[in-house]
Amino acid sequence: MFRHEAAENAVKALNEAAPYLSYAARFTSFKAFKYDKRFTSKCSSDALAHAGFYSTATPTSPTNAKCPFCMLELTFAENDDPWEKHRTQKPDCEFVILGQPDETTLTLQIISSLAIRCATVAEYEKMLPIIHYLEEADHEQSYRREEATRKLISLRNNSQYLTADHRYATFKIVGQRAKGVRDHILKKIAKAGWCSAITNRSLLSAKCPFCLLTIDFETTDDFWEEHKNSSANCDFVKLNKLNEKDWTTEEALMLAVKISVVKKFEKQRKILEQLENDKEADQLANQLSKMMARPKCLRRRCSV
Ligand SMILES: [Zn+2]
Ligand SMILES: [Zn+2]
Repeated sequence: MFRHEAAENAVKALNEAAPYLSYAARFTSFKAFKYDKRFTSKCSSDALAHAGFYSTATPTSPTNAKCPFCMLELTFAENDDPWEKHRTQKPDCEFVILGQPDETTLTLQIISSLAIRCATVAEYEKMLPIIHYLEEADHEQSYRREEATRKLISLRNNSQYLTADHRYATFKIVGQRAKGVRDHILKKIAKAGWCSAITNRSLLSAKCPFCLLTIDFETTDDFWEEHKNSSANCDFVKLNKLNEKDWTTEEALMLAVKISVVKKFEKQRKILEQLENDKEADQLANQLSKMMARPKCLRRRCSV
């Protein structure tokens, strides 16, 4: 029972950090939605929520909606097919790749990875205006500036393995173990996204702070190729910019936030992964898949 409780708590923590993860959360974000008033319109609040969108309506754009996983935001027309729009404009979106999650039971791993994506995007959207604010030259309210700086420092402290220099330093700290490995090799491995992960198996055991993959390397390995081949969905791999100078502010922020969110929920993710292939896990996965899917008895006009 204890394990089940731990898993439920893990799910609860993930869900709280990931607004709009569930169908219900997205659906209820549409209030008195314009296109719900006519039965014939394709673009109902149900269709939008089912296709992954939540409402970002404003008085001037009442039919705006956004994906909490890939940040695609569109102004919808009455006869738009939200799923088609999502699928064609953002084929890489994790939610799109999943397909509309109705029939299938998702694995706990998939659900937690989707929750982490959602939590990362939510945190990114909170931080981006703060960064832009700090970039502006003129600040009248110094207390606001202090608050913004505090948040930025906190993010920096929680994402310290963002840069190759900091990752390289992790190998130096465990210098004893990495002894005998040439410095340029350590720099190369850090540049390819890896931090040191001490194990007894290997001198060059390394872990990616973005995707948490751990590999025991040999000095002759191609660390970047290995990263690309074994973790194609890693955000660092997907960005594909080994030179940090090429990162835009937005890209750097997204990576930093990803590290901090992944770190924050590492324990929860482990609890869920350990449950996999377990009877209790099946129950939980079932329950969660229902949360992700559109309820069978839906009344499509209930946002009116
Ligand atoms: Zn999306
Ligand atoms: Zn990675």
